[in-house]
Amino acid sequence: KAKAKGKNTYQIFTSSMNIEAYKLFALESDLRKALELNQLELYYQPQYSVGTQQIIGAEALIRWNHPEWGLVSPGEFIPIAEETGMIIEIGKWIKETACFQNKAWQDAGLPAIPISINLSAHRFLQKDLLENIKDILAKTKLDPKYLQVEIVETSLLENEKVVFSILDELRKIGIKIFMDDFGTGYSSLSSLKRFKKRIDTLKIDQSFINKLSRTNVDGSNFFTKTIIELAHHLEMDVVAEGVETTEQLEILKEYNCNHIQGYLFSKPIPADEFAALLKYGRF
Ligand code: C2E
Ligand code: MG
Ligand code: MG
Ligand code: MG
Repeated sequence: KAKAKGKNTYQIFTSSMNIEAYKLFALESDLRKALELNQLELYYQPQYSVGTQQIIGAEALIRWNHPEWGLVSPGEFIPIAEETGMIIEIGKWIKETACFQNKAWQDAGLPAIPISINLSAHRFLQKDLLENIKDILAKTKLDPKYLQVEIVETSLLENEKVVFSILDELRKIGIKIFMDDFGTGYSSLSSLKRFKKRIDTLKIDQSFINKLSRTNVDGSNFFTKTIIELAHHLEMDVVAEGVETTEQLEILKEYNCNHIQGYLFSKPIPADEFAALLKYGRF
């Protein structure tokens, strides 16, 4: 395969590349084929109401079934997709697949819920994002209120003017906006104020949630409690990410956290399993 790409490629392979570098190189070229060969798949992870413990939404998370490497995590290939620009094509596929799927579930009579997709930092700032989203909504006939976008905190902090105008446009269409991985960036608490009526929901990063404890209290308890209060003050909902224990759930309930997502209730699961979960309730 390397040989077919030319002499230089072959040399890189055989001389100096270690296995990690080789893997990276191979991933990049294989990623180009992954789309055509249907190796990409969306998993869905339910989000639950803390109060009712009902499913109130889901996050679509991409998986790549690689023929040699097995299941490759998005943490490994999304950065490569961004670097090479393939994120545009892959992003289109993700949006289309999630919206088609959601519409199909609604048409089949399952409870209607919003589904979130993750927008990469790079993609978020591209000019044709809005057109692309509008096209897909029209094509899939999904009501925009059932599409949510997650954008990581760090990519919302630069370029305020541009960022705000994109957020405002998205909201005008009726799409809800989540600030993902909150707490890992450097937004000051006062800068959060400027996102009032621009961000609908804050997702507190799992690095804080997995340290919540009654016996081993550190800054995470205080941070989580404070952020939930501030978010509510700014008319935002809060999702706690990475909830794994009932102790964490109980603490979050005490803090009036709205929604949770985590292995305690469900890992991300393939579409057919998710449909069953939606239809029949909890496992
Ligand atoms: P994220 O958007 O913050 O997604 C949450 C990650 O936490 C997911 O990992 C999920 O499987 C994991 N998670 C959920 N609950 C728990 C828990 O209770 N415990 C633990 N330990 N982990 C939990 P995943 O699916 O590997 O995704 C990792 C990151 O890759 C995502 O972070 C997101 O930034 C990116 N990503 C995933 N899918 C997409 C996509 O379709 N498009 C883009 N642009 N990025 C994606
Ligand atoms: Mg996310
Ligand atoms: Mg996150
Ligand atoms: Mg993350």
